[in-house]
Amino acid sequence: MIYLCLGGMYSGKTDAGIKLYEKLILKGGSHIGVQPASNIRDIDLFNPEVKSRSGRNISAVVLEDGSDVYVDELEKILESNQTVLIEEPHFPNLSKEGERRFVEMVKHYGWDQDRFSPEQFEELRMGVPMEDVSSGKQIIITSLDYYFNEDPVEIVHNLKPYSITRTGLAVCHQCSRPAHRTQMRVNGKPAPYSYDNKVVEEEGSDVSYDPSCVECLDVPESPRR
Ligand SMILES: [Zn+2]
Repeated sequence: MIYLCLGGMYSGKTDAGIKLYEKLILKGGSHIGVQPASNIRDIDLFNPEVKSRSGRNISAVVLEDGSDVYVDELEKILESNQTVLIEEPHFPNLSKEGERRFVEMVKHYGWDQDRFSPEQFEELRMGVPMEDVSSGKQIIITSLDYYFNEDPVEIVHNLKPYSITRTGLAVCHQCSRPAHRTQMRVNGKPAPYSYDNKVVEEEGSDVSYDPSCVECLDVPESPRR
């Protein structure tokens, strides 16, 4: 089964993913977390782990950046483990081909297409608590679902039809409504649509992120707004 724990920054998605992982590994089998090396801020190289802001964490292997390396290594891990938690798969900057391979691979190992009719699967997707469904491989993906400029993270959106999806929810810092987006600010100002957040952070600018609702989100120069 494939489980997607999605949301913006501070939405609790990693915490939800780790809780689910801890429940699923009680059923046995080998298990592991996967961190992309490019998710640098969260990695202690001597003790790599996936950790949430709540302090919940699991040990993890670190996979190198780069489409082929990341996808090849991930395939070995998926092949040899019963339960795998994949943290932020958008970080390794996969090429289009790398993204296609990632999606196909996760579907290959995790999608129980033979166990459920399309109708049953739809019911599962809508109603069942994530931890109540299991057998076969369990693949949990925790990820941003939208970049800071509102572009969708395509690999996780492409997996949604094959997954049980839950979205973490934070509260908008401006109006307290549910926050489905993340506001990025650079030196206190909303980041324009074309900002590359990795480049901006490396330049030493003051970058901050706040949960935001769709209405309050400010993305200057966005073609959507
Ligand atoms: Zn708002």
